[in-house]
Amino acid sequence: MSAFLDKKLEKLVPYTPGEQPHGIEGLIKLNTNENPFPPSPMVIEAVNRTVSSLNLYSDPACVRAVEAIAAFYGVRKENVFVSNGSDETLSFIFHGLCENGAAFPDITYGFYKVFADMFGVRKTVVPLDDDFNIQIDDYKDIKSTVVIANPNAPTGICLPLSEIERLLNQDLNRLVVVDEAYIDFGGESAVKLIDEYKNLLVVQTFSKSRSLAGGRIGFAVADAEIIADLNRMKYAFNPYNVNALSIAAAEAAMKDTAYFETCRSTVIKNREYIAKKLRELGFTVLDSKANFVFAGRNKKVSAADYFEKLRRNNILVRYFPEGRSADFVRISVGAMEQMEKLYEVTKTILGEM
Ligand SMILES: *Cc1c(COP(=O)(O)O)cnc(C)c1O
Repeated sequence: MSAFLDKKLEKLVPYTPGEQPHGIEGLIKLNTNENPFPPSPMVIEAVNRTVSSLNLYSDPACVRAVEAIAAFYGVRKENVFVSNGSDETLSFIFHGLCENGAAFPDITYGFYKVFADMFGVRKTVVPLDDDFNIQIDDYKDIKSTVVIANPNAPTGICLPLSEIERLLNQDLNRLVVVDEAYIDFGGESAVKLIDEYKNLLVVQTFSKSRSLAGGRIGFAVADAEIIADLNRMKYAFNPYNVNALSIAAAEAAMKDTAYFETCRSTVIKNREYIAKKLRELGFTVLDSKANFVFAGRNKKVSAADYFEKLRRNNILVRYFPEGRSADFVRISVGAMEQMEKLYEVTKTILGEM
């Protein structure tokens, strides 16, 4: 730490991203919930077409991406905000839409706590119940902005829209942020509720279901006034927040609905396969509607040992060694060959114990 760092950041503990190892031959990377399939061919074409205009600034309004998202969801342009990954949207939310603090579950996306600390937002941490569910009633007296991931991470458990509505109705003057990073893998999006609920802010990303994690494109859908607030912050921070290649990629990815449907249905099918196989081997696997499974509590192997042994076999998954998460590993759903390999290696690991 230098002598120049602002005192208020001295205690800031940053987010720890999953490892992004390069050049390890045969590595099966199932640790950061990326899509195993490459971007749509239409995306590659659109990006190639855009490269020659990189001498120009990108469109600060991201109009082409905004229009494609608005068309996909049947909302107005004024209801859509595009950002440099959804992490950037979340940072604006914590920075400017959490004056009364932020409330979120104890087990959820680790960045919420980091953003709260970064921007000096008061935190209310609400424990999941014993079965890792979000209990909506636990939020009824909370005045802070509520931030939940649906499906939640790393559990994969998804709330039905009726529960989201119950959360929204608890207090129509309280903002509810629903982070739908994984919604395309089996959940029902709350986007259809934005006209009815002015206190709803839905956040999504192209990183998971649209194979563009490296493109860094996220978006928000909400009432036009909330979107205007996000733009107020963006234009006070970094008006060209999304680069031209990513805007082109986002537009093409949203329009190639056939490719999107194929990829996501394959991921869902592979998830059901590996969840079933792991249960047969004695793992508890939470009911996931995401592109990962949270598996553990196997009598033959601790989650920590399973994580290490998979790694020795060139399979990288994610382990969160704190609290109740320590009994589980989070395994991203990959291509079928990767899931079959994971199953074979797991059988060997259990046999060895
Ligand atoms: C992956 C993820 C994000 C971040 O996505 P980016 O768009 O890549 O920044 C946000 N929220 C949750 C719950 C995630 O898992």
